[in-house]
Amino acid sequence: MPIADSQKIDLRGGLNRILSADIIAPMNVPAFDNSAMDGFAFCAQDVESHQELTIVGQSYAGHPFHGQLQPGQAIRITTGAAMPTHADCVLPQEFATLKDAATLVTHNVVIQAGQNRRRCGEDIAFGSTVLCKGRRLGPAELGLLASLGISAISVQRQLRVAIFSTGDELRGPGQSLQALDGGGIYDSNRVTLHAMLSRFGADVLDLGVLTDDPAIIETALKNSVDQVDVIITSGGISAGAADFTKQVMQQLGQMNFWSINMRPGRPLAFGSINKNGSDCPTYVFGLPGNPVAMMVSFYFFVRPALQLLSGSGVSMPPTAIAISMEAIAKKSGRTEFQRGVCTVDTNGSGELQVSSTGEQGSAMLSSMTRANCLIVLGPEQENIVAGDKVKVMLFEGLT
Ligand code: AMP
Ligand code: MG
Repeated sequence: MPIADSQKIDLRGGLNRILSADIIAPMNVPAFDNSAMDGFAFCAQDVESHQELTIVGQSYAGHPFHGQLQPGQAIRITTGAAMPTHADCVLPQEFATLKDAATLVTHNVVIQAGQNRRRCGEDIAFGSTVLCKGRRLGPAELGLLASLGISAISVQRQLRVAIFSTGDELRGPGQSLQALDGGGIYDSNRVTLHAMLSRFGADVLDLGVLTDDPAIIETALKNSVDQVDVIITSGGISAGAADFTKQVMQQLGQMNFWSINMRPGRPLAFGSINKNGSDCPTYVFGLPGNPVAMMVSFYFFVRPALQLLSGSGVSMPPTAIAISMEAIAKKSGRTEFQRGVCTVDTNGSGELQVSSTGEQGSAMLSSMTRANCLIVLGPEQENIVAGDKVKVMLFEGLT
């Protein structure tokens, strides 16, 4: 169930927000018949009956012609300027022959009524549904709303998402290298998660790093549950001696754990904890600690769930078929997501081709920075040989 709260915001703040109500056109767009070209407006029939048309005035964008066009008359007109009544076409300037400044000759003119004229309401008709509830707003949608004179919109409130990392080994970026002595690593997942959630349009509450201590994890979950719609943790969900997130989730609420037949990103915990004073629980995702596994799990499991919660339908990034430029070792029976570089063949065919970024360890975040797609190999697929067609999911377009 999507969250029910909505808010009214200025159009300028609408990028990536989700409409909480349908938008009904309060006017026609365009609001009046106007010219699609710079040129001359007249009645197309007059070309048959008149050798010449007399230019009796002009209509410029923002400065309409106020007179009445008579048979045998034309006006000069610019793109976007109002069409005068009794004119039904526009002859582009480059096709016009003038005998003098006030006379347009017609013998070489071939034109029909309606040519180069934009009709009132042809883009959007008054009273029609322009954008539906649940629509995520991008630059085109925002511009469309502006073209209707709309400056404030009702949108779903942003999802509030708390994030934390778990692991005794984690140190904050910015800490000195000495801080890594004794097996420390820098915490990258929280920065990645923060970025993925910000791009999605969530309001992120960063709870920092928690040590591998069930009491500390429990306190963090308890303290954040009432403040947010979703909690996302990373690390500590495998079966290791220091993996406590599942256990704590189970104590505080309901927990489902999946071992998903995919690589990277096998373990995933999902559950919910009831909130004080609300029927709507807080959903909890426990993602794997390895950075690539964490990202892939986010894109395939968390992001669609966030889309549903925020009131938009699920939409996955676009997929395409590409020719694998190399052999890829693959066991059947599980889905694999290889990091790939997809390009268009420039030797004529225009087909998509894809190469692997190389080593595919789920801890190797550099493979994600080199990739522009994931090569998606389904459970039925086995070893790929160079030249085989494979499915790729492009990162472009991910929000
Ligand atoms: P875990 O699931 O806690 O066993 O972690 C699996 C691997 O991911 C280990 O090598 C961790 O050190 C690493 N890892 C866990 N959390 C993070 C994080 N926040 N940033 C980078 N690596 C992490
Ligand atoms: Mg750990």
